[in-house]
Formats: sequence, structure tokens, C-alpha cells
Amino acid sequence: MWETAAVESRLDRARAAMGAAGVDVLLVSPGTDLRYLTGYDALPLERLTCLVLPVADEPFLVVPRLELPAAQAALAEGGPELELVAYEETDDPYALVARRLPPTVRVAGLDDHMWAAKVLAFRAAMATVEQTLAGRVLRELRVRKSPEEVDALRRAASAIDDVHAQMHQWLRPGRTERAVAADIRDAIVAAGHTTAEFVIVASGPNAASPHHEASDRVIQPGDVVVVDIGGRMPDGYCSDSTRTYAIGEPPAEFASYYEVLRSAQAAQVAAVRPGLPAAQLDAIGRDMIAAAGYGEYFVHRTGHGIGLDVHEEPYIVAGSDLALEPGMAFSIEPGIYLPGRHGARIEDIVVCTVDGAERLNRTDRSLVVL
Ligand code: ZN
Ligand code: ZN
Ligand code: ZN
Repeated sequence: MWETAAVESRLDRARAAMGAAGVDVLLVSPGTDLRYLTGYDALPLERLTCLVLPVADEPFLVVPRLELPAAQAALAEGGPELELVAYEETDDPYALVARRLPPTVRVAGLDDHMWAAKVLAFRAAMATVEQTLAGRVLRELRVRKSPEEVDALRRAASAIDDVHAQMHQWLRPGRTERAVAADIRDAIVAAGHTTAEFVIVASGPNAASPHHEASDRVIQPGDVVVVDIGGRMPDGYCSDSTRTYAIGEPPAEFASYYEVLRSAQAAQVAAVRPGLPAAQLDAIGRDMIAAAGYGEYFVHRTGHGIGLDVHEEPYIVAGSDLALEPGMAFSIEPGIYLPGRHGARIEDIVVCTVDGAERLNRTDRSLVVL
């Protein structure tokens, strides 16, 4: 869990960012923003749980009476000093929040994942308050990881590396993707994650579909298999790593474009440094893949940020002029997908450092033949 001081400074930093963005209050319902700001991993229920953080007033946490013990326990474990306001089943928590807000509030930032029903209930309870996205404020904080957060991502990466290192036990001809995925799910938890967040086992022609999950297809000799897996650790931080495996001798063309992909991914990792625009990092891999004749088969962005969410800022994508900064953590995961035939992806999480990148995933990137 977090030190109280660290979480309190997050509330202070959020306030400073709110001031700059012209947001008078943040309303944060259960999710990773709430966990980031308070350490409380609250249940997402139809009943309102909400952190109310005014820019110039004391914050408080509104909770249904039955969630009070869970909220108290979570905050006692290193959370910030926060008044807890419990309400009864027959109370209107939206009216309660509206009554307690300072009269000067004009703009409220609602967390980006708040349920529409809650957004509309807040709108009805505070008709004159303009609603905006809290993400405008909070992404500024979350996009750069603290040393403690980088440590948490290192532990998550090492846990998922343990799972990839055991792949030979599960990935065999004659087994279905689904059976392999079930074993991988168990291993993700056994390696220290609380939950497996996603398990992609894409064999043969399925490997050409980047977000194929797992099907009843039986794995055949000569298949290539894209395995993209990740989980959430007890502290909330996520892992995400892809390796491509060959079941025996892969098709000749596959072997040649896999080497193109491996060089492109390595060049992108090597290029990471502060100041580099995200679009340029994307282009470094894309240009190499295009030069080898596979440009039209690299159909997605290079990567996404990772932290308490598997996908968060910064996105490594064409058109983004965001400049990398030390502490930014993101995936580098170019892929080549030949529709109906096969495909490959290589994915590592990296952290931008003061003079380059730290690669958090350490398993072999050369084609593993099982
Ligand atoms: Zn993805
Ligand atoms: Zn990813
Ligand atoms: Zn992935």
C-alpha cells in the first residue's frame, strides 16, 4: 500500500492541476482514479461511492452505509485523511453532494469512467454546474510514474515473464487455444497477480487477428501462436507482454518477417528518450516494417501507457506530438498480421528514463520454437 504522505501529495497535486485547468471540484467514482487518489479499491455498484475533491476546500468521500467498514479499512491502510460521509438506503446521495459543495463551484470534473446514470444524476442535482472530464486533470498526474510505481510495474512485469517462461508446458499441438488459455490464467495468478486481465492465445490464421482471444481451434504442428497476456497485481498495477511462439518449423515467409518485426521492436526500444515525440517513436518501427514490404499489415498503434489501467496515457501513435518524459511507462508492441494466414507481435513494457529506456520484460524475443 502507499505511504500516507504519497497519497496526500496526490490530492495536493490534483488540486494544483485543477486550478490550472479551471476545475472547481473533482467527482471520482470507483475505479483506478479513485484508487490512485485514495488507495481505496471500491466496488463499482449502482449505489454512489464518490470522492469529492474541491479545489479550495476539504475533500470527503461519500459512501453507502454498508460500504463504510470497507472504506474505513482501505483508508486506514495508508490512505489520506478524508472525511467519510455515509448515507442510508433511502437518502439521495447526489443531493447530499450538491448541498455540501461550496457555492462557488461552477465546473465539476467527473471521472472518465463514471457510469452514465451517475453523470446524469449529478447533472440533475446540480443543474447550474458545468460538467467536464476529470481525466483532463488526472492524466497529467498519472502519466508520469513515481519511483514506487515503477517498482510496482517491475514486479508486475517479472510476474508475467515467469508465465511466458513456462509456455512450453502448455502450448502443444493437439490442445485447443481455450485449454492452453485456461492453464495460462491459473499461472498468471500463481505468479503473483490477483487476476488475469486478458489471455490471448491466437494460433494459425487466428494469429492474424490482433485481439483474437481464445477459441476451440486445435493447435497444429507448424502453427505460429501469438500469446498476449497480462494481469493485475495486489497493489493494482498491471502487466502486459506478448511473445510469438512456433509449434515446430514455421512457414518460411513467417520466419523472414518475424526478423523484420524483431528488429523494428528493438529499434523502437533503443530510440526511447526524453523529448522524443510519441508519433516519431511509432514511425521508427512503422518505417522499418514498411521498408520490408509489410507496412499495410501493421494495423495498430505501437503502444499504450500502463499503470493502474492496462491501457492509459501515453499512447504511442501517429499524430501524437506528446513528448516522452522520464517516468512514462508504456508498451512497445508492433505486429505484422497476414489475414487468413498467420501473424506476429512482440510486446515489452518500457519506462522512459533520464537518458533512455528501462525495458521491464526480459524474456527472449527471438522466435521460440516449441
Ligand atoms: Zn491490445
Ligand atoms: Zn499491450
Ligand atoms: Zn498485450
